Amino acid sequence: MMDNRTDLIGLSRAELTAEMAAMGEKSFRVKQLWHWIYYRGETDFAAMTTLSKEFRRKLAGLHRVGRPAVSEHQVSRDRSMKWLLRFEDGKEAESVFLPEEDRGAFCMSSQVGCTLTCRFCHTGTQTLVRNLSAAEMVGQLMVARDVIGEWPSPPDGRMLSNVVLMGMGEPLFNYDQVAKALHIIMDGEGIAVSKRRITLSTSGVVPMIRRCGAELGVNLAISLHAATDELRSRLMPINKKYPIAELMRACREYPGAHNARRITFEYVMLKGVNDSPADARELVRVVRGLPAKFNLIPFNPWPGSEFECSAPPVMKRFSGILNDAGYSAPIRVTRGADIMAACGQLKSASERQRKSRYLARLEAGIEDDHEAFPPNAN
Ligand code: SAH
Ligand code: SF4
Repeated sequence: MMDNRTDLIGLSRAELTAEMAAMGEKSFRVKQLWHWIYYRGETDFAAMTTLSKEFRRKLAGLHRVGRPAVSEHQVSRDRSMKWLLRFEDGKEAESVFLPEEDRGAFCMSSQVGCTLTCRFCHTGTQTLVRNLSAAEMVGQLMVARDVIGEWPSPPDGRMLSNVVLMGMGEPLFNYDQVAKALHIIMDGEGIAVSKRRITLSTSGVVPMIRRCGAELGVNLAISLHAATDELRSRLMPINKKYPIAELMRACREYPGAHNARRITFEYVMLKGVNDSPADARELVRVVRGLPAKFNLIPFNPWPGSEFECSAPPVMKRFSGILNDAGYSAPIRVTRGADIMAACGQLKSASERQRKSRYLARLEAGIEDDHEAFPPNAN
């Protein structure tokens, strides 16, 4: 059954204020509701005991506090978790939680699939693409907090301490909804994850990097992956539109880009492609003058990928050259590989299954196409 009530999750404070005004309620209701929804994680109006019974009854008739449906929840041997969430139109996206001893990062998706086609990325092969709404992004985090049991929002000592936009999609191609979601997540009276603990990763959408810096001020991570335009354009087609020099200019102008808040350059280690000492030295030249640190990501293979990960000694040598030039350059520990939760491996399972069912039918010689692939063809 379709629930036609308005979901309060994902409304900005201004929208929630308008919603209350339309009910003839005063604006202090917004503060109360915000507290219940985002500080306490409550989804049942009946349990919001600081509100009058009459108001709770009226709210429940018109509104709900929703969560995306969980299609799948997997826990890796290393305790990282992956969710496949299903939204109201049936589309799906994945999110990942990477717990450490006393903290943890939640990795959010900003789109279903991605319109970009970086050659090493599984998400980039997904043909079904749409933007996620602010509600759907905030919803991902709410589900994770429900599972971890982290309500009410602890002031410190949280397990879900950091948020990274490194899941499916290019966040800066969905800027408005991403910004709206982040404002909700950063709001000090609710979930209250500070901008210092939020990192947005982009393939390099230059004009939007400026807006992101001015309006959100979160940490910036750039998917660089190559030190020359020739190679980067081959690996990441967006480089043809925003080449390395322009990208570096935007980084230089990013506010707060001083030593305390360095920009992270992500670099996926591809065997024989971008992992030579000459590549490392060129990389040092590219970021010269920038408050930079590197994050070397071992390439995570996925079914059908054309690359291999560089050998460990090769990655070490690469990291060493960057270190000698004065940059931090840890080799990221791959986590959640057994549940395909590692960087760049996310792709909705529904599309994987649909594709394999289609291939199975093809092999069996069945040609009916009532479940056509690519899935967005119908
Ligand atoms: N679209 C954004 C954020 C999502 S991808 C971006 O590209 O930055 C998060 C990180 O994973 C990016 O640095 C991306 O380049 C990297 N990545 C993609 N595929 C990968 C793979 N197969 N192995 C390792 N890292 C990968
Ligand atoms: Fe999209 Fe990022 Fe994957 Fe490139 S690496 S296809 S931008 S999700």
